[in-house]
Amino acid sequence: MAKWIKAKVIENIQWHSRLFSLRIEADLPPFMAGQFTKLALEINGARLARAYSFVNSPNQSIHEFYYVSVDDGGLSPQLAKLTVGDSVLVSEQASGFFTLDDIPAGKELWLLSTGTAIGPYLSILATAGLVERFEYIVLVHCVRHLEDLSYRSEIADLVEQYRGRLVYLPIVTRQVQPEMLSERVPSLIENGLLAAKAKVDLDPDTSQVMICGNPEMVRATTEMLLSLGFSKNLRRAPGNITVENYW
Ligand SMILES: Cc1cc2nc3c(=O)[nH]c(=O)nc-3n(C[C@H](O)[C@H](O)[C@H](O)COP(=O)(O)OP(=O)(O)OC[C@H]3O[C@@H](n4cnc5c(N)ncnc54)[C@H](O)[C@@H]3O)c2cc1C
Repeated sequence: MAKWIKAKVIENIQWHSRLFSLRIEADLPPFMAGQFTKLALEINGARLARAYSFVNSPNQSIHEFYYVSVDDGGLSPQLAKLTVGDSVLVSEQASGFFTLDDIPAGKELWLLSTGTAIGPYLSILATAGLVERFEYIVLVHCVRHLEDLSYRSEIADLVEQYRGRLVYLPIVTRQVQPEMLSERVPSLIENGLLAAKAKVDLDPDTSQVMICGNPEMVRATTEMLLSLGFSKNLRRAPGNITVENYW
């Protein structure tokens, strides 16, 4: 049984009408970058809980979750109404294997995301130890509109900190931007544009790929990588594709 902790809302940042970052104060046990927990609210006398990935690194005391308010969603529109000082329930126990500990060694680490699924990568990138394990890291964030590219100043800081070892590749699919890629991730892998733009190899012999977010993107990207000789990373059989579906 999950143990629930009452957390206090410190901030509910609104990026635009549907995108938010909830920052909460809660005394949680340690978690690993890339993991998720559950947030819950009592709605009409019943507790409604959903999974959300940590955006903060494990060594930061304020916990942060990046979320979209889903039209007609059960919980997320209610989370969007929270203001400073409100309470939200958070599951004490973090979960998930979408962590660096579960990624085999490699030369390049590709972090592929859609929408809010950039969150766990921000936690991973803010945690020490990545540069000892990989020569190059590519953070790919695929969104529909330019305004969905949140956390750009935090990402710019990370790019600076990684001193040439981290490449940030935003993809905007519904508003063509001259300097940005606009096709979907599987097509950009197939036509070679993703690796060409990053100037980093995407190679089954040397690369590890993490994929997170929209299950259709996760599925299609996995299929594309399998066709190129990549293999799924399973606990019983290590490979180089590690995935997390958000729904
Ligand atoms: C392991 C895990 C981690 C997750 N981490 C996050 C996170 O960090 N941020 C986040 O926003 N969501 C995350 N989710 C999704 C989240 O748990 C909820 O499903 C989402 O907030 C919608 O809940 P709801 O009750 O408002 O909508 P529901 O009434 O449960 O409706 C679910 C529908 O909402 C849509 N949906 C769900 N999540 C998203 C999303 N992220 N982007 C676009 N559409 C979506 C899908 O169409 C889905 O069928 C995660 C899910 C899993 C399984």
